[in-house]
Amino acid sequence: MEKNILNKSIDRSWIDNKWNKPLIISGPCSAESEEQILETADRLKNSYVQIFRAGIWKPRTKPNNFEGIGKKGLSWLKKVKKDTGLMVATEIANAEHVRLSISFGIDVLWIGARSTASPFTIQEIAEALEGENDKIVLVKNPIHPDLDLWIGSLERLFVKGIRKLGVIHRGFYTYKSSKYRNQPNWNMLLNLRSMLPRIPIICDPSHICGNKKELLDIAKKAYYIFKCEGLMIESHCSPDQAWSDAAQQITPENLIKMIKELKLNSCDQKDARDLDSLRILIDELDENIITLLAERMNIAKKLGSLKKSSKIAVFQPKRWDNIMEKSLKLGSSFGLSDELLKGIFKILHEESIKIQNNIK
Ligand code: PEP
Ligand code: MN
Repeated sequence: MEKNILNKSIDRSWIDNKWNKPLIISGPCSAESEEQILETADRLKNSYVQIFRAGIWKPRTKPNNFEGIGKKGLSWLKKVKKDTGLMVATEIANAEHVRLSISFGIDVLWIGARSTASPFTIQEIAEALEGENDKIVLVKNPIHPDLDLWIGSLERLFVKGIRKLGVIHRGFYTYKSSKYRNQPNWNMLLNLRSMLPRIPIICDPSHICGNKKELLDIAKKAYYIFKCEGLMIESHCSPDQAWSDAAQQITPENLIKMIKELKLNSCDQKDARDLDSLRILIDELDENIITLLAERMNIAKKLGSLKKSSKIAVFQPKRWDNIMEKSLKLGSSFGLSDELLKGIFKILHEESIKIQNNIK
């Protein structure tokens, strides 16, 4: 589909006309009981929060975990809407979820990361939404960093007449060890924005961090540096007792405190913001380089043991020439100089030899 048609047709009225920025979506990971939902909503109302969220059907990685309270939770959300005037949001993952959510007057439907990864699921949801032109539909990034798949989901919804669209950056699965539960990918977010400049972008620091400690830092980066228009942050009346995602949920009071702090911290100078955003991208890449270096040295250790037990010399000149030749060729295809690559690989090789020689 022509990106321009999708971009031009996005109906931004739901985020532009109504709310202060950043738009704040908050509420528990999962609806657990009527009391928990009503109490959390009561403690969030009259604050910065504009949309109350709660998961009714939970996509869990492994079976035999709490998989959501199901349909009865929808009536609790309906009550929140009536009692507090907040809009309400839940996650939908199939046609039945769509049908039930509509029948209970849920205002905002979000599609979870695991669902965005499946075109069949998105197609089913899009077909079930046909004619529901007033619904706000927010599409989380797929679990893995595939921008086309993410945009493809928006296109499937668009074809069925859904225009009040938005996306949620909730981070990406990574096989590397990371301080985040789901690695943010700001670079991809910037690419998404350059393709669809009008799409409202919300950030979900809770699922990026997986803990409470880093939430504010990610929220600041998202809002001030990368210009996300909204934040979705999980909150729970008793976070430590939460049935899902307990480690990352905060109390409504701490959520309100966090937003206050976020709002104090403005950064108006465009140059400073641009500088910061480039530095964050560099930091992200440096972290990747260090993680990869550690993995490379771990393999060098295994190689050392194997060479020792097979009585093979540590230094293999032919193999080394081969590595160098391949790396220079690959590097030059990306515009990297031979000098840089020779320097880096010499250091890497020396370290690897040292590690292998030290194997007892
Ligand atoms: C959630 O928002 O609770 C959720 C399950 O999110 P995600 O799809 O990002 O894992
Ligand atoms: Mn959650």
